[in-house]
Amino acid sequence: MKRIAFFLSNRSCPHRCIYCDQRAITGEMHIPSPLEVAGILQKFNQPVELCFFGGSFTCFKLEDQRCYLDTIKNAPQGSTVRFSTHPLCINEEVLDLLNYYPISMIELGVSSLNNEVLAFCGRGYDNQKVIQAMRMVISRGFALGAQLMIGLPFQNEESSLEDVDKISEISGEHITTLRIYPCLVLRNTYLEELYKKGLYRPLGIEEAADWSGKTLYRALNKGLKVQRIGLQETESLSASVIAGPHHPALGEMAKSHSLAITLTSKIKQGPWQIARNQISLIKGHNCYGLRVLSLMAGLAEEQTLQRIEFV
Ligand code: SF4
Repeated sequence: MKRIAFFLSNRSCPHRCIYCDQRAITGEMHIPSPLEVAGILQKFNQPVELCFFGGSFTCFKLEDQRCYLDTIKNAPQGSTVRFSTHPLCINEEVLDLLNYYPISMIELGVSSLNNEVLAFCGRGYDNQKVIQAMRMVISRGFALGAQLMIGLPFQNEESSLEDVDKISEISGEHITTLRIYPCLVLRNTYLEELYKKGLYRPLGIEEAADWSGKTLYRALNKGLKVQRIGLQETESLSASVIAGPHHPALGEMAKSHSLAITLTSKIKQGPWQIARNQISLIKGHNCYGLRVLSLMAGLAEEQTLQRIEFV
């Protein structure tokens, strides 16, 4: 289904998280009104997924939420709505309202389930609050999306893997979808100040690919879906990144890392069979996948290549 995204940049966020500036990420300065959204939706003749991203949708006043949700009536029959929101604004009243609409997914900005990380980043909740919000979304039968971050201050790989385990445990039979966003230092954020004072060290690109790759591998093995790794590239994002793992192929590199774990955990030193359509995961991006696989297998790169059959 075609996805039509509207960015409600930072609207109604209960706090400003130390790393965030949605206007810089999306380049959208204007917050569209429900009337504008409705006008755009009228132009489609096939069902669409209407998305509201970049703000805290369920933190809007209920009446405002209703106005935005009602715009779906202007879209073709069968269209659905998805949005991102803040865990502090999930409650029974909000879920009662959402029940009247064809919601395809509620994406919660989780960031981390580590309390030290959450407190430092100014998220405004502790892990119990976000766990409760996830449980409520699932128990009311909505599809849950969880947006996780990596490389945040005080965060480490171990805590990300624990986050994945916890989300999998909460999800049970329910399929939760993750997005994994490596932390970037954006202009005009508090994180920029910390970085400039030498108090925050952002991840390097391969470091971020390793960490997201391990997180991806764990998530897939725990029955979760991973929809995206890394922020959507925009001109505005490129212009706003001061430092951090900003790379258009980060998601592919994470997949390479995850593939290397899969292969070596089955047969430590090969031989391995890899589907032809995955060649780029081994040979792409300066042979990042090959290097990681060689390191994990304890082989020289040439030896590793000899033990791979592309089928
Ligand atoms: S990270 Fe999410 S909740 Fe925090 S300021 Fe940005 S949009 Fe708002």
